Amino acid sequence: MGNISTKPRLLLFQPPIYDFALFDLFLKPYGLLRLGRWFEESGYEVFFVNGLDYNDKETNSLLGKPRRYSNGTGKFPRMRIPLPHGVDSERSFGRYGVLADILKRKVKDANPDIIFVTSGMTYWYKGVVEAVGICKELFPEIPVLTGGIYANLMPDHCKVSTGADYVVTGNAEESIKTVFKAHSLPVPTGEIPKGPLMLEEVWKDAGVLRLNEGCPFHCDYCASDLLCKKFIKGNAEIAFEALLEMHGRFGTSNFAFYDDALLVNSEQSIKPFLELIIQKDLQLKFYLPNAVHLQFLDKDTAFLMKRAGFQEIRLGYESSSRDFHTDYDDKFEEDDLFRVVETLESAGFSKNKITAYVLGGLPSQQWKDVEGSIKTAASTGIRVSLAEYSPVPRTPLWGKSMELCSFPLDKEPLFHNNSFFPMKWDCYTLENMKYLKSLVQKLNMDPGS
Ligand code: SF4
Repeated sequence: MGNISTKPRLLLFQPPIYDFALFDLFLKPYGLLRLGRWFEESGYEVFFVNGLDYNDKETNSLLGKPRRYSNGTGKFPRMRIPLPHGVDSERSFGRYGVLADILKRKVKDANPDIIFVTSGMTYWYKGVVEAVGICKELFPEIPVLTGGIYANLMPDHCKVSTGADYVVTGNAEESIKTVFKAHSLPVPTGEIPKGPLMLEEVWKDAGVLRLNEGCPFHCDYCASDLLCKKFIKGNAEIAFEALLEMHGRFGTSNFAFYDDALLVNSEQSIKPFLELIIQKDLQLKFYLPNAVHLQFLDKDTAFLMKRAGFQEIRLGYESSSRDFHTDYDDKFEEDDLFRVVETLESAGFSKNKITAYVLGGLPSQQWKDVEGSIKTAASTGIRVSLAEYSPVPRTPLWGKSMELCSFPLDKEPLFHNNSFFPMKWDCYTLENMKYLKSLVQKLNMDPGS
């Protein structure tokens, strides 16, 4: 008979996701697993239930094995479900992830003393409701805490809709310690570690790294500064150690950066980090699910990124209009895009591995302006991606979004979902959005046309 552990048992729960479409572009519960490591180092036995496990055999045998790619991205198991009440769309709606009965069994087996449920986009909250519901049904007396993006942006909604006992916002360390004390559980010590809990099933296909925390910019459409109050400069050696740990333990060779501002403070963070990678010659591949700032992409950085193994570059272009940048984000220099494309090409990146994000669907934005931005970006011969705006609570554009939107954004987060374009209006209709998407597709197939 094995040893029966006397350690307190703590469950981390990544909920399933409800949405129209979902692609796994390095979607990992990084923050939740950093907490997990903190708890493990503080003497807890930590269990992880991954509602988005794309390798769950039972789910895949019933729903079909989702298509996955060698770089660690791909699809999740999907079950078609009816559209939520009040949501009108020609697209089908789905629940992504491990089937509910299987999740229930896993939560039951963990038999926890305390539970953490994380959250992502506000319009994914139904998955959080489901996850907390499972926990409360099985363990009504056990404290359930929710945290993450939705919990931080809409704490009151989160508390009411999920029925969680606590919603962790702001300084997670302090709030968590207070809750543990109140429940006579051992209080975690020290700071939340930089690296996450080491779990092979999460990190083998693709690892996640973060050098800098937060972003020094304050774009009106973005919640970065709400989720991370101040920009914290990264440390190249610490990030390198986190990478070596995953690579050494699980053979991980794909790594995605979660930074909002990867190239800021580059002399102290990304450049020394890339030099360490190049020296070690580990033959790794790096990806950028988030765009990088154009103005910080200089020649040295581009060459180092190429030599270190960056597979693609995504650029935060947003718009070719000076007025747009004056109004919303102040991060535009007229010739930045052209200069950067030239620099990246000279470093060895082919143009089909460079993508510029153009932002469309902001409150009162006109589709013609977005068309102009798409065409300008595409004229450089690189790929374009149309990032569709979704209203984010508490951002500077939230008030205007609520005022101009025909849906009750403050009452129902499902309406924040850009998939059905909540900010449509006379000068930017759903038809206009469809046209812009097809324009992007056409230009990407025939770059530079
Ligand atoms: S959009 Fe990008 S640059 Fe602007 S605040 Fe967000 S992360 Fe920073």
